[in-house]
Amino acid sequence: MADLFQLQSSIETAGARLIAVSKTHPVPDIMSVYNQGIRHFGENKVQELVEKAPELPEDIHWHLIGHLQTNKVKYIASFVHLIHTVDSRKLLKEIQKQAKKADRKIRILFQFHIAREESKFGIPPDEKSWLNELDFKIEFSNVIPCGVMGMATFTDDESIVRAEFRHLKSIYDELRSGIFREQDSFTEISMGMSSDYQIALEEGATLVRIGSLIFGARTYTDQ
Ligand SMILES: *Cc1c(COP(=O)(O)O)cnc(C)c1O
Repeated sequence: MADLFQLQSSIETAGARLIAVSKTHPVPDIMSVYNQGIRHFGENKVQELVEKAPELPEDIHWHLIGHLQTNKVKYIASFVHLIHTVDSRKLLKEIQKQAKKADRKIRILFQFHIAREESKFGIPPDEKSWLNELDFKIEFSNVIPCGVMGMATFTDDESIVRAEFRHLKSIYDELRSGIFREQDSFTEISMGMSSDYQIALEEGATLVRIGSLIFGARTYTDQ
């Protein structure tokens, strides 16, 4: 396992923030990472997140990094810090509805499908025109668009991973200078995990999501 201070300072030096991915790990393990100064944690399942969050300190910023079903938004709307996985207008509408109900604004990232692997999740890069029609001043006034998220192909071939991260960065740049040019909040690129975060940092990541390098291997793998 990595030295947490060293890991965090190398990420901060690169201008990014560490999100400790605590999925499958119990509350005491999360507490020990918290006690080393980490305040941003990521979970990929709503049920696991809503079970753990109340047992942990309130100043934790919780990131939802896994696929989010519309019918589960209501369970996290009151406290989630950032939803990384918005990939449809339907989901965005539900987030708006639940954020309004909770009387708060919810920060979101648009997830793009940049990997070679088949996946139902993530916006295909050539199918993002629907983003043009989103009105964050009126229709989605309780949603704050903060950037993009993506996952690279699971491969040892560094050049593939690098090209995919570069692709995500180019999508970000296009949106940043286009549709979202007046959104000061649109600043984040969430990419990189334990195996590829260094490449992600070199390619412009602002948020890296690291699990096993911090907590050790998960006893079961679900994603
Ligand atoms: C599990 C997970 C991570 C962290 O993976 P590690 O390989 O353990 O660092 C990052 N992002 C997402 C979306 C995940 O589901």
